[in-house]
Amino acid sequence: MNLIEVKNCYKIYNNGVTAVADLNLSIKKGEFIFLIGASGSGKSTLIKMLYREEKPTKGSVIVGGINVAKLRNSKVYKLRRKLGIVFQDFKLLPKLTVYENVAFALESIGMNSKDIRPKVLKALENVGLKEKIRSFPNQLSGGEQQRVCIARAIVNDPKLLICDEPTGNLDPIISKEIVNILDKINQESGTTIIMATHDKEIVNKMKKRVILIENGVVTDDNMKGSYKDHENH
Ligand code: ADP
Repeated sequence: MNLIEVKNCYKIYNNGVTAVADLNLSIKKGEFIFLIGASGSGKSTLIKMLYREEKPTKGSVIVGGINVAKLRNSKVYKLRRKLGIVFQDFKLLPKLTVYENVAFALESIGMNSKDIRPKVLKALENVGLKEKIRSFPNQLSGGEQQRVCIARAIVNDPKLLICDEPTGNLDPIISKEIVNILDKINQESGTTIIMATHDKEIVNKMKKRVILIENGVVTDDNMKGSYKDHENH
């Protein structure tokens, strides 16, 4: 069974804008996908539907066996527990340390602190930040802050890691480090990763499955890992 199955999916916002139109997509467990497309092409809308920030207007979006379109608000937590999300703008809690920011994700689902500690330390080790556990976000570089966000997103071993322009605020060298960490997580733990990005160099270097969205439709898939003829994006 595919981890993600999107069928004949439409998203029409209240103001009448069609952001996604008849979109179809299948993603298997363990894949690493780059989602590309010009600004306004519907990448964020698709990503928001995967974690049920937005509901499809028509069609189905199934993530880990859960039909997002039919999911009640009171059951959204069941979906969210299966995924980790990394944003461009970090969204760390400024008054909490690195350790506390990562632990917070587990505390909020009711895990006890004895079980939390080894998980947090392992997640921070996976992103190479174990020595910074007592630092506060404002004492870290942008790349380090994004690594904390990745640790926070993977701490509960999600099936799916969604990254919306995770390197958008970072310089090229740090961006490569971040993508290498994501690649390692994908290979070592089999976590499926979807990364929306504009970073041509990274996409061309990593040679992963690339999905191009234009005007809310998948126009190219499996481009064997490059922007190729899509240099304008
Ligand atoms: P991308 O992530 O590729 O830049 P988006 O999914 O953000 O694209 O946007 C796709 C289209 O939907 C754009 O025309 C955008 O203006 C519109 N859009 C996005 N979010 C909303 C919203 N909350 N309400 C109305 N229109 C929106």
